[in-house]
Amino acid sequence: MRMIIIMRKGATREQIDHVVDRLRERGYGANLSGSEVSVIGAIGVLDDDKARLAEQLQSLPAVEKVVPVLKRFKLASREFQPDPTIVKVDGLSIGGGSMVVMAGPCSVESEQQLLSTAHAVRAAGAQVLRGGAFKPRTSPYDFQGLGKEGLELLARAKQETGMPIVSEVLDPHDVALCAQYVDILQIGARNMQNYALLREVGRSGHPVLLKRGGMYPTIENWLLCAEYILREGNRNVMLCERGLPVGGGETATRNVLDIAAVAVVHELSHLPVLVDPSHGTGKASYVAPLARAAVAAGADGLIVEVHPDPERALSDGPQSLTFDQFGTLMRGLEALRPASSPAGVPAAAR
Ligand code: PEP
Ligand code: MN
Repeated sequence: MRMIIIMRKGATREQIDHVVDRLRERGYGANLSGSEVSVIGAIGVLDDDKARLAEQLQSLPAVEKVVPVLKRFKLASREFQPDPTIVKVDGLSIGGGSMVVMAGPCSVESEQQLLSTAHAVRAAGAQVLRGGAFKPRTSPYDFQGLGKEGLELLARAKQETGMPIVSEVLDPHDVALCAQYVDILQIGARNMQNYALLREVGRSGHPVLLKRGGMYPTIENWLLCAEYILREGNRNVMLCERGLPVGGGETATRNVLDIAAVAVVHELSHLPVLVDPSHGTGKASYVAPLARAAVAAGADGLIVEVHPDPERALSDGPQSLTFDQFGTLMRGLEALRPASSPAGVPAAAR
């Protein structure tokens, strides 16, 4: 059972500590959050103790209200933390109405391929460089990525362009290695419910981009997966919508991109949510329109695949943009950027 205690505005440190002491005395944990208003999350409250505890806490000075949490996720919920999470990556702030664009090749293939792409996407306005060093491929005969050599090339690209790096980690044993080279650890759609991997990236404390997917890619399950990372004490979690398996026999797109998920997540959670229109559609000509839809819906950022020569890409060529196409996409987004979108204003409230 989860329970949240919302303190009155201006509650003092002593008053907050008093509530925390009361919880600890009963053997429960406490999690603190909130800036303007303090919110205390009670952990491990026993079901048959719930009503009595709520009543007792309610009578303490400076307690505004005590709310039982009906949702299965807590740390990820808006109730627990009303202010948007802003993940800091190398001086960038992601969340709270940001519009951060991550771009680069699906896979790191060679120095020339990666560096030319890095320079091109940076010139077009992307702030983070993507590139897979470890690739989850449907067939074991397909290109699996360059592994450590790929990570080294990403570090090289960062050195040259100053762009922070996002790259996928597939195996819990590779988390420490990847964290040495990359700024954001990507959990791919296939691994959303890989709990050992979630715990490990949680323990790393490193920023994480958690893609939606897995066997049961509901929004609730996605937020529960984020909860695994948050529970390890890592608050630097970003979500990424990348489309769901196509239902109803549709074959025109690779996946069905759920733009509504942006609005749903912003209502349920304080975590930043990005959109991947590349995997979301599977086709280059659909990427820009869906990128605009994502921004219009209030996404905190985008992640887009770009390749110097999509026809010769070792993975995901059909959905990769050329440098020119990416430039056009970026110019198209300019018009959509809200003129006044101060950081800290949740996109949902715009
Ligand atoms: C990728 O980003 O290249 C990737 C494999 O994405 P997803 O996990 O969304 O399929
Ligand atoms: Mn890809």
